[in-house]
Amino acid sequence: SGVVVALDGPSGSGKSTVGRHLATTFHLACLDTGAMFRAVAWGCLADGVDLSDHAATERHARDLDITMGLDPDDARVWVREHDITTEIRTDRITTAVTEVATNLGVRAELKRRQRAIIEAERTGGYSGGHGILAEGRDITTVVAPDADVRILLVAGEEARLRRRALETLGRDDAEALEATRALVVTRDQRDSTVSQFLTPAEGVTPLDSSTLSLAETLEAATALVTA
Ligand code: C5P
Repeated sequence: SGVVVALDGPSGSGKSTVGRHLATTFHLACLDTGAMFRAVAWGCLADGVDLSDHAATERHARDLDITMGLDPDDARVWVREHDITTEIRTDRITTAVTEVATNLGVRAELKRRQRAIIEAERTGGYSGGHGILAEGRDITTVVAPDADVRILLVAGEEARLRRRALETLGRDDAEALEATRALVVTRDQRDSTVSQFLTPAEGVTPLDSSTLSLAETLEAATALVTA
């Protein structure tokens, strides 16, 4: 049966780039679980559900028609008939998603859906049974602790700052780093309320990309899946 690769890491660790590369290399489906939390946030905002009402949000998440595209080269997300791929990356959703990600009822519902997708890809589904790479914050620990390969991608704060500055401002001089610092630190603090994802659990291989180039990071990750 197909291979299951679990990839966790904080924002700015290069997780989605590494995930897409591994999925393409090994002909795997690619599941972005963060996008599922974003889809729930999008659905609640579209339907006027108050995100601070956790019971209402959980009910809404259970009923919501979310379709996850699994193509690593074209990761799309739909809620009902809407392609929300671009909209879920806006600041509005990035801000709202924190409340959704701390909702334990939503987490349970999405875990159930993520496991169903992973199971389907083991033997068939989009990958035709090649398997799946699932990336997020709790895949190695909660969603797929029995995955064949479990990787925690980490990067020191300075390395993540540099990447984020290059991404958003196109440069990484001292001024650009300072401007980016507040954003990255706030994001980390919000994230750490959700989980303990910065330390690898038993049996999870840490991969620190701080001092590696992108090519070196991809090579190291590929070696972990080949092994
Ligand atoms: O990775 P991304 O920024 O798209 O994740 C969106 C939100 O969902 C973040 O707040 C992140 O902490 C949360 N998340 C989560 N569990 C996952 C994936 C993402 O709590 N498996």
